[in-house]
Amino acid sequence: MRPIQMVDTKSQYLKIKTAVDNAIHEVLDSAAYINGKPVQDFAVNLSNYLDTPFTIPCANGTDALQIAMMALGLEPGDEVITPSFTYIATTEVVALLKLTPVFVEVDPKTFCMDPASLRKAITRKTKAIVPVHLYGHAAPMEEIMQIAKEFGLSVIEDNAQAIGCDYTFSDGTRKKTGTIGTIGATSFYPSKNLGAFGDGGAIFTSDEGLAHKMKMIANHGQQKRYYHELVGCNSRLDSIQAAILNIKLKELDQYNAARQKVATFYNQAFSGNAKIITPHVASYSNHVYHQYTLVLEGVDRDGLNKYLAEHKIPSMIYYPVPGHKQEMFASFGLPKYDLAITDWLTERVISLPIHTEMDEEQLNYISGHVLNYVN
Ligand SMILES: *Cc1c(COP(=O)(O)O)cnc(C)c1O
Repeated sequence: MRPIQMVDTKSQYLKIKTAVDNAIHEVLDSAAYINGKPVQDFAVNLSNYLDTPFTIPCANGTDALQIAMMALGLEPGDEVITPSFTYIATTEVVALLKLTPVFVEVDPKTFCMDPASLRKAITRKTKAIVPVHLYGHAAPMEEIMQIAKEFGLSVIEDNAQAIGCDYTFSDGTRKKTGTIGTIGATSFYPSKNLGAFGDGGAIFTSDEGLAHKMKMIANHGQQKRYYHELVGCNSRLDSIQAAILNIKLKELDQYNAARQKVATFYNQAFSGNAKIITPHVASYSNHVYHQYTLVLEGVDRDGLNKYLAEHKIPSMIYYPVPGHKQEMFASFGLPKYDLAITDWLTERVISLPIHTEMDEEQLNYISGHVLNYVN
């Protein structure tokens, strides 16, 4: 059996090696390492794929979130509502910009922002909502957008884990996640569903004014060279990364389908087991399985994690500490949060290997060992 990895970017690369190597050499020959043609092409290609008018490539997903928040003109003290059950980047940028993070609860089945909890958390200081499409499943955007509209709030979708995911509205219209809110942000970190061979990110919007502003912010606040109208930052996607992403974007739907196939295998293997809750897929979303995350009932989760490691099966706990309990916020004077579902999840979730290069032998081996331990 081939060794099992959480992600296998090497095998994935080998399948498109010639195209990727050629594209990299073209960039080397062109010497346009910064903002070369591949970067401009990628912005167009990604806009077309997502069916959204404006895409601004940037250096990484964390910057994408930061630039989005800067462009909305949020001021110190403004409250930004995010789920506590997410990767730290979502809330870190809120803190970095001296905004106030407000943590809300997630739905225990989809792991995404709970609209009722969101509604309760809104105050006169609330300015923005940052839903996260966690693990590759969409947050309930229709309800979130309704609440945002009611209170005049901006919505920044953290789409770092869900590129390619489809959201279906109650009237049947379909949109890609990341294109529904005021702004969408994503990451091309190598392990993401659309991964570069280094860091990368992008921001989406259908608002031309915001697009213009975000493009300037990502480039030192300038439109004309050396004339800086805004305080910005330096956040660029390299030409080499863009050249690679142009090739991988064409494969994205197939990549997501390969992940879905792995999930179907696991779902069948674990179906009917009372101690294992497999990922739920809401009627409004499909699932692109950035992670395949189980919730365990009455199982020593950390024991399973260790047992799998002993059998050369990696597994991960995303995330062991929720945002509202992170030490970095200790000095923020945050209120006492009671996020029971979030706490419950952090103690029970475990993510199994899922990527585009898995075979049945590996999947049998993994699911067999999970069942061995659980039963
Ligand atoms: C990966 C990720 C980010 C940050 O992306 P980087 O490119 O690593 O900066 C933000 N939010 C979520 C939910 C992520 O998974």
